[in-house]
Amino acid sequence: MRQSYLGENIKKLGFGLMRLPVMPNGKIDMALTKKMIDLYMENGFSYFDTAYVYMGGKSETTARELLVNRYPRDSFQLATKLPVWTIENKADVEQIFNNQLEKAGVDYFDIYLLHGLSSVVSDRFPSSNTEKAEQFGAWEFLNKIKAQGKAKHIGFSFHDSEDVLDRLLIEHPEIEFVQLQINYADWEDTIIRSRACYETARKHDKPVIVMESVKGGTLANLRPKVSAIFKQANPNASPASWALRYAASLDGIVTVLSGMSNLEQMKDNVSFMKEFKPLDNKELAAIESAVKELRLVEIIGCTGCKYCVEECPQNINIPKVMEIMNDYRIYKDQPYAKRRYSYGLARFGKASNCIECGSCENRCPQKLKIPLLLKEAMAIFE
Ligand code: SF4
Ligand code: SF4
Repeated sequence: MRQSYLGENIKKLGFGLMRLPVMPNGKIDMALTKKMIDLYMENGFSYFDTAYVYMGGKSETTARELLVNRYPRDSFQLATKLPVWTIENKADVEQIFNNQLEKAGVDYFDIYLLHGLSSVVSDRFPSSNTEKAEQFGAWEFLNKIKAQGKAKHIGFSFHDSEDVLDRLLIEHPEIEFVQLQINYADWEDTIIRSRACYETARKHDKPVIVMESVKGGTLANLRPKVSAIFKQANPNASPASWALRYAASLDGIVTVLSGMSNLEQMKDNVSFMKEFKPLDNKELAAIESAVKELRLVEIIGCTGCKYCVEECPQNINIPKVMEIMNDYRIYKDQPYAKRRYSYGLARFGKASNCIECGSCENRCPQKLKIPLLLKEAMAIFE
């Protein structure tokens, strides 16, 4: 039986509180964030997405100060996430959750997620997030806080293949939604697998919350040849509008998150999402042309099979490096690529740790010159 659809009363633009404006002293620019929240709320939007770890742990407290303390509790939805990878025992789960309620100044969250589920393991971190969630009772905990009314809706954000997602949704049918990375550039990507994951979620009748709709800002900052395609189709639409509207046009979307960092981005997003119109066929054809143009750049043929990772004595997350290298080749956005490199490899060896032993090359079915590519990555990202 179809579950009640979570997105009925939620507009299709969610405010992601992970890239808030920061002042030169490194602190969150509270005055600017306040203006952004006010503009967002004035225009009838209401969905805020934070997490325990965002903004160095300050995102939830910012939500308390600028949102929870200033707006009626029923005028917005607040979503936050459990950092599964930090859990070391069962008691941690409850302790972190209670801390989150306190930090955000609320007695319930509208949406509560297990953060970043994936089956990826490494020598240094032998337990994956999915294993930790099982081992330390995170799924049971979700059910408990929902029954207590401390979380209105429960789900998880996800970074892995459709097979892992399928398994999780079979094992945990009580989950009400999934948060997935979806954007037009990653829709057919062989590593991110947006389309396959989206279709798996929908097969299980789960609504989807979209993250990375603008691919960390990359799709707002396109190469001239790509942006020319969009300009020709509609001279007045911003590059970000194509990305957000693409994701929001899919069936079963609760909302599309955008991690806005300044007032201009907020004004732009609000302007076209206030009265959201799905993309028509002509617009979808423009997206298709843009994706083709994006893909004209020579990309590394890594399929993400991870055979190389098992071999690497330096614990380098080789497919992640290749994925970021490909993004860099396509979008030429070095600051974004460097950020992803730093987050994506935080738990692994870096490209510069490669000792050129060659074990990975022997296992790579795509015959990639991995040590050579890692040298290239080191020069760009480190
Ligand atoms: S060549 Fe480098 S990346 Fe490949 S297995 Fe050896 S240390 Fe790891
Ligand atoms: S073995 Fe080759 S194709 Fe597979 S993940 Fe490693 S680099 Fe990519």
